[in-house]
Amino acid sequence: MSRIETMRGPIDAGALGRVLIHEHVFLMHMEYTQNYRPDFFGDETAVRAAAKLNALKAAGIDTIVDLTVLGLGRHIPNLAKVAARTDVNIIVSTGAYTFDEVPAPFAFYGPGLLCNAPEPMIAHFVRDIVEGIGGTGIKAGELKCAIDTLGLRPGVERIMRAVARTHAITGVPITVHTAPQTESGLVVQRVLAEEGVNLEDVIIGHCGDTTDIDYLMKLADKGSILGMDRFGINFTITPEQRIRTITDMVHRGYVDHLTLSHDCACWSDFFPTVDAYNAAMPDHHYLHIHQKVLPALLEAGVTHRQIEKMFVDNPRRHFEAAAKRFSTKS
Ligand SMILES: [Zn+2]
Repeated sequence: MSRIETMRGPIDAGALGRVLIHEHVFLMHMEYTQNYRPDFFGDETAVRAAAKLNALKAAGIDTIVDLTVLGLGRHIPNLAKVAARTDVNIIVSTGAYTFDEVPAPFAFYGPGLLCNAPEPMIAHFVRDIVEGIGGTGIKAGELKCAIDTLGLRPGVERIMRAVARTHAITGVPITVHTAPQTESGLVVQRVLAEEGVNLEDVIIGHCGDTTDIDYLMKLADKGSILGMDRFGINFTITPEQRIRTITDMVHRGYVDHLTLSHDCACWSDFFPTVDAYNAAMPDHHYLHIHQKVLPALLEAGVTHRQIEKMFVDNPRRHFEAAAKRFSTKS
C-alpha cells in the first residue's frame, strides 16, 4: 500500500478518505502580511482555521490538499499550529505559483544565468518532498505550478519543467492552476508529456471555470483528472453552470476524471479583513459543497456512488498511481 505524506506524517492511501483536492488554509502575499496585517499573527487565526477544518471533518471530509506554494505565502510553522488542532489530514505542496516571471530568488540563479547552476528549483522541491520543508520535517505530498491567460511565459515554462523533473525523481503527483478560457490545460499536457510525465498523474486545476465540454473531454481523454474546484466563486461562472457541466461530464462517462473542491482559504490577505472576504464571496467556504452543491448534483441525477468516486476514488488514484508506478521503476 502506498504511503502518502501529510502534516502528521505518512498515511496509507486508503486512509485518505474523502478528499477536497484543491484548497488553502492561509493564502497571502507574505511580505504584505508581515508588514500590514498584524491580525494574522495571533493564535486566534490558527484556532479559527482549525475550527473550520473540524466542521469539515464533522461534515465527512477527512483530508484536504493545501496547494499553497512559493508565491502564495506558504509558511509551514503557521500551518502546523492548525494541524495540531484538527483531525483533518493536510497534504502540503511544493512548487511555485506565477503567471509570468519566476520568483525573484531564481531570476539570476539557474542554468545559463549570472549564477550559473543546475536548476535550483528542482533541488528545492525535491528537498521539500524527501527531507521536509524549511527544517520542519514536514514533507510535501503534491507538486504545484501555474499557467494563466498570459500563456507559457518563459518563467511559467521554467517552473513547469522543474515540477515535471521533480515528479520524475520523487513520484509525487502534480496539480496545475490553469485558465480554461485560453485552453491552457492543453499546453500543460504538452509540456508535461514532453518531460515524460504520465498525464494520469496530473490534475488540471480550475476546469470547473468553463462550460466547454469538448475542451474538458480532450483533457480527460489523455488521462488527466479535472479539478472542478472553485465552488463558491460565483463571479466568473454561475453555480448552476458549474453543476450542469459536471452532470454532463458524468453522463458522458467521465466520472473517473472529476474532483470537487472550493479553492478557498480560512484566512487571506487578498481581502483587507476576514469580514470583507466573507462579504465579497459569501459562498466561498469549506462547507459550501456539502451544503449546496451535493444536493444540487443529486437532484440533477448524479448518484451517491458517483459523488464518492469524485471525493474518494479519484483523489486516492491520483496519489497512489504515481507512487506505485514510481516504486516499480526504482
Ligand atoms: Zn488554489
